[in-house]
Amino acid sequence: MGQKILVIGEARDGVLRNVTFEAIAAAKKIDTDGDIVGMLCGDEGLTDQAQEMIYHGADRVVTVSHKNLKEYTSEAYGQAIMAVVNDESPDTIVMGHTAIGKDVTPKIASKLESGLISDATDIETQEDKPVFIRPIYSGKAFEKKAITSGLTFVTIRPNNIKPLERDTSRSGEVSTKDVDVKDIHTVIKDVIRKASDGVDLSEANVIVAGGRGVKSEDGFKPLYELAEVLGGAVGASRGACDAEYCDYSLQIGQTGKVVTPDLYIAVGISGAIQHLAGMSNAKVIVAINKDPESNIFNVADYGIVGDLFEVIPALTEEIKKV
Ligand code: FAD
Repeated sequence: MGQKILVIGEARDGVLRNVTFEAIAAAKKIDTDGDIVGMLCGDEGLTDQAQEMIYHGADRVVTVSHKNLKEYTSEAYGQAIMAVVNDESPDTIVMGHTAIGKDVTPKIASKLESGLISDATDIETQEDKPVFIRPIYSGKAFEKKAITSGLTFVTIRPNNIKPLERDTSRSGEVSTKDVDVKDIHTVIKDVIRKASDGVDLSEANVIVAGGRGVKSEDGFKPLYELAEVLGGAVGASRGACDAEYCDYSLQIGQTGKVVTPDLYIAVGISGAIQHLAGMSNAKVIVAINKDPESNIFNVADYGIVGDLFEVIPALTEEIKKV
C-alpha cells in the first residue's frame, strides 16, 4: 500500500508511554510497507524520546519544541499537530486512546474533516485495506470499521497491540519543526501530581481492584500489598470511590478508566455492567467475593468465594514465596 502514517507519541515525566510503541506497532499493522513518521511535542528532551520511537519501528521522527508545549493543552498540541500534518500530508494518523488522545483527536479530525475511529483494539486487513476492531455496548460486542475515503485518524486502546521489539540498530532522521505556538487561552498555572506507586493504571499488566466490599480506606491496604508483590497497580469500582475509600483517579468502568491488563483481580466488586465496561477485556479475570451469586463470577476466569480480608493476605503470602 505504501501509506504515510503519522504516529503521535506521548511522554509522561520525560519517559515515552508504552502506548506510543503500541501505536507504532499499530501503524505497521495498518501497512507493513508504510512510511512511519513519529511526532513528539514538548518543551525539551525530545531527541532521546525520538530515538526510542525509531528503535521501536518509526522510520523518522519530527519534534516540535516550544515552551507552550511543556504541559498538555488541546490548543497548543492542536497547533503543533496541525503544522506537522500540513507538512507531512499523512494518509493515516495514529495516537493512543489516552486522556490526551481522547481530547485532542476529535478536535483535529473535525478541523481536517477526516474520519476518526476511536478506541481500536486491533487491526485487520481486508481487500488490502485496514479494518479497525473496536468494542461497543460497553464491551459486550465488537464492531469492524473502516474509513473509505480521505485521511484516516485512529486512536488505539492501550495494552492491546504488542509493541515491536526494540532494535537499537535501527536508525532514522530526527528533524525539528518550528511552530510558533501562540494565542493559547488556557494557562496551566500549576500541576499537582498525585503520589503514585509508579505503575500507571491504564498501562498496568496486573490490576488489583477493590469495590465497596473493601469497606474502608484502610481496607485497601492489603490490596496495595498484593499489587506490590505482583508488580501491578490498584484500581477501584465507582462504589469504592463514591464511598471515599479511594481517589476517583482509580475508578475503572464506563465513567472511569478502561483497562486491558493481563491479570485483573476484582476484590469485593459485584460486577455491575458499568464496571464491566472498563475491565471485561482483561486477559485473565480473577474474582474474589463472598457472594457466590455475584455477577462478577459470570465474567471471571477464576473465582474465589470467600472473605476478601482472609483471601487477600493469604494470596499475598503465597505469592511472596514464589
Ligand atoms: P457493590 O455493588 O455494593 O458490591 C460490593 C460487593 O462486595 C458485593 O458483591 C459483595 O458481595 C462483596 N463483598 C462485601 N463484603 C465482602 C467481603 N468481606 N469479602 C468479599 N466480598 C465482599 N461503577 C463502576 O465501577 N465504574 C464506573 O465507571 C461506573 N459508571 C457508572 C455510570 C453510571 C451512569 C451509573 C448509573 C453507574 C455507574 N457505576 C460505575 C456504578 C455501578 O452501577 C455500581 O453501582 C458499582 O460498580 C458498584 O460498585 P461495587 O461493585 O464496588 O459495589
